[in-house]
Amino acid sequence: MKFGGSSVADAACMRQAADLVRAALPPAPLVVLSAMGKTTNALFQAAHSAESGDLPTALDQLKGLIQNHRRAAEDLFEASVPEELDQALTDAFGQIELLLRGVALLRELSPRSQDAIASFGEGLSTRIFAAFLQHLGLDAAWVDARDVMRTDGTFGEGQPDLEQIRQLAKTNLAPLLGANRIVVIQGYVGATEEGLTTTLGRGGSDYSAALFGAALRAAEVQIWTDVEGVLTCDPRIVPGALPIPALSFAEAAELAAFGAKVLHPATIQPAVDASIPVTVRSTRKPKGRFTTITGEVHTGRSVTALASRGPITVLTVSSSRMLAQSGFLARLFEVFGRLRISVDLVATAEVSVSLTVEADAPLKPLLKELSAFATVKIAEDRAIVAIVGERLKHTAGLGSQVFGALPDINIEMISMGANEINLSIVIQREHEHEALRRLHAALIEPKSQGGAA
Ligand code: ADP
Ligand code: ASP
Ligand code: MG
Repeated sequence: MKFGGSSVADAACMRQAADLVRAALPPAPLVVLSAMGKTTNALFQAAHSAESGDLPTALDQLKGLIQNHRRAAEDLFEASVPEELDQALTDAFGQIELLLRGVALLRELSPRSQDAIASFGEGLSTRIFAAFLQHLGLDAAWVDARDVMRTDGTFGEGQPDLEQIRQLAKTNLAPLLGANRIVVIQGYVGATEEGLTTTLGRGGSDYSAALFGAALRAAEVQIWTDVEGVLTCDPRIVPGALPIPALSFAEAAELAAFGAKVLHPATIQPAVDASIPVTVRSTRKPKGRFTTITGEVHTGRSVTALASRGPITVLTVSSSRMLAQSGFLARLFEVFGRLRISVDLVATAEVSVSLTVEADAPLKPLLKELSAFATVKIAEDRAIVAIVGERLKHTAGLGSQVFGALPDINIEMISMGANEINLSIVIQREHEHEALRRLHAALIEPKSQGGAA
């Protein structure tokens, strides 16, 4: 059972989450938590203030965090916070302060220091939650994720070592789980073999849940969040977005990769490999609708959902000699690979290749290298809109529906994913939300009649 930041944001949310954990017994749940609310953002901000040498602001930001956590703890325990928890919180706040002072002194924030600081968010939320479950009379143990989530040393984006995690889960987690015995552990946080703290990247708690679930061969991975499952579009953009009862792993992975914030892009893989269903459920409406993600789904729908991502940058690379050169693409992508710039969409024409990269990709060194054999045109402030569905490839006339819905929006690039379940278009970012609303109305609303089947 993984609870996201909004599901453990304050004492009231934690009470609700605790009720859900209790209701899941007797099978033993491993409870994976995010940091409370916007704690991770605040830790990042404090770290950056310290890096710029502004220690007073950094400590002020820390003070805000301390107040939030203390308030939640006092509310949960009706002002008599258990001694042990109180001490653990005091220790953690002291360590964050030390780290911030160190960063401010050196005016240097390495990815490694950043991970060390960011990891405290999950440390704090899980300490409070585990103590609260115990206070409710439940058998709950707190485990340090760094004793199980083994990653490499890519700070800020630790790559998990599945085999090691399986071994460590066997020795450090499995013995603590049993009928009516709960374990509470941090999402997002890991450690290298040498014991250095790492994180899995922003939004990584979903990934943690899937990795732990796979390592323990869980019956199900439940992602508890603030929406009734994965919807046909981000409800903040399309208020009429509908819950999707069944989603395939491939569809979910495409949606996550193309901006559906409800799931971390990498979440799905460990669960797919272990054939474990992932469900996405609402903490606020636990008996409401939810989404089950499994290997395959069979439905009549052609378009399942929409997602979008922006800003992104489109690069159009041309070479007059390209036509005759069989190795052109290899040479081109070798440069991207070497500079570690990841490419999302690619479309090729006779003498040019268009591709999309993140808006913050390091373009300067890239352009310098490419200029040796090609000319590059840059279009910034664009967005990718992805139309996702298992049956897309069997849907005749989809293109005309898409173009028909956007007669006045210029489509600058089109790409049908190699797995044929994702049709992506690139447009100017100012039209991103309008395009989603219109495509939702044209491709999803008329067919669903009250619920995406
Ligand atoms: P958590 O804190 O539980 O990890 P997130 O904020 O990461 O939650 O993800 C949930 C949010 O994702 C929702 O509030 C919603 O605004 C957003 N979202 C984006 N796309 C979708 C979608 N297709 N379906 C559901 N939610 C979506
Ligand atoms: N707390 C981390 C973040 O905000 C991880 C997560 O919540 O998934 O990115
Ligand atoms: Mg999330």
